[in-house]
Amino acid sequence: MGSVANVAELDASVVKITRSTDLRPVPAPGSPEELSHSYCTDHMATARWTITNGWETPEIKPYGNLSIPPTASCLHYATECFEGMKVYRGFDGKLRLFRPDCNGERLLSSAQRTTLPSFRYEELKVLIAKLMQIDGPRWLPKDQPGRFLYLRPTLIGSGPHLGIQTPKEALLFIVAVPWPDPSQLKKPGQAGKPGLKLLASAPDTIRAWPGGFGNAKLGANYGPSLVAHGKAQAVGFDQVLWLFGEDRQVTEAGASNFFVVWENKDTGKLELVTAPLENQLILPGVTRRSVLQLARTEMSKSVGSLAPVEVIERDFTIGEVEQAWKEGRIVESFVCGTAVRFNSHTYYPRDMLTRYQYYITPVKVIRNGDVDMDMLEAGASRAGYAVQLKAWLEAIMFGKDGQENHEWSYIIEGESEK
Ligand SMILES: *Cc1c(COP(=O)(O)O)cnc(C)c1O
Repeated sequence: MGSVANVAELDASVVKITRSTDLRPVPAPGSPEELSHSYCTDHMATARWTITNGWETPEIKPYGNLSIPPTASCLHYATECFEGMKVYRGFDGKLRLFRPDCNGERLLSSAQRTTLPSFRYEELKVLIAKLMQIDGPRWLPKDQPGRFLYLRPTLIGSGPHLGIQTPKEALLFIVAVPWPDPSQLKKPGQAGKPGLKLLASAPDTIRAWPGGFGNAKLGANYGPSLVAHGKAQAVGFDQVLWLFGEDRQVTEAGASNFFVVWENKDTGKLELVTAPLENQLILPGVTRRSVLQLARTEMSKSVGSLAPVEVIERDFTIGEVEQAWKEGRIVESFVCGTAVRFNSHTYYPRDMLTRYQYYITPVKVIRNGDVDMDMLEAGASRAGYAVQLKAWLEAIMFGKDGQENHEWSYIIEGESEK
């Protein structure tokens, strides 16, 4: 009794720093090291938790392998959750995170879904800032605005207890990974078409279900989904469009949220539609939330040549998409998420980079059974919502076009000298 109240909170205001004495070469854009998606920066952040003491003092230390017992809870019972974020080098020279408390809160709710320890989620961004104060200057040079690193905060059950039980020990760690950026790899115009090919899931394949955990960023969601993903890739598709239920509701695509812009068949007005969060079938994306907020505030009136859209979160089926497509009412559809994904298996030379996903990526085709729906053609003259939303987001992320002080930005001050 009372032990919960006495254990230490996660506190990133004080961290133990051990600097690397063996700095690694920073990979060039498009190099095999960068394309490996596994080459991390010089340092990582860690914080250990035990049920008796709570959170220990976080550390920033040289990047290296972890040591955990073969009986560690995460290895057997998938007590693991993670986040995907980025740190951006702005056009004003500053380092920024985009809405990091949204990721902190989501990591906390994922942790709770799999009995990992609770923490003050605001501390996540502080810990990332401390890591980036050290690695930012070398890995995202000030004179190279527009570059970013992918951040992977992860929480694992690390205790050795093999009996099935809630973890008694846990480890939070954060690594930063240079990530290929399509705009750096090829000259504009040569970069290939970013339109994605989505393969709708078959009725016997389900990603998430009501009462399940598809709305949490748990590692347990992804391994099993790779079977369908691999099959989709084998027939030339980029991602699975996950359908759910007898009525084939459209949920999300791969590890990104899915949106469609179509004309309402009764009113003739344009709608931006995406699946709702209430039934817990989709991951509540930070990009999804931002797209909804931007569209609601900025797109209720026309923007340039774009007609106003009504923004709607509701269940909708692949049958509705198909009907709209047959009737020429599809304007465009797109997916959104933080990670930039390339469509190749493990390694791809520059020239093979044909399709990619970049915050917000238009969908080119959806295959449902034996129907191939071209999502670009019919609505081409009215499309452009994805491009506009992406431009707004990019300005906020990189502090440009008058968005240097946007409320969604968290600026990392106090970078150390190289
Ligand atoms: C991470 C993720 C997303 C996108 O979330 P963002 O916060 O926008 O990056 C969407 N769907 C799934 C299944 C995901 O894992």
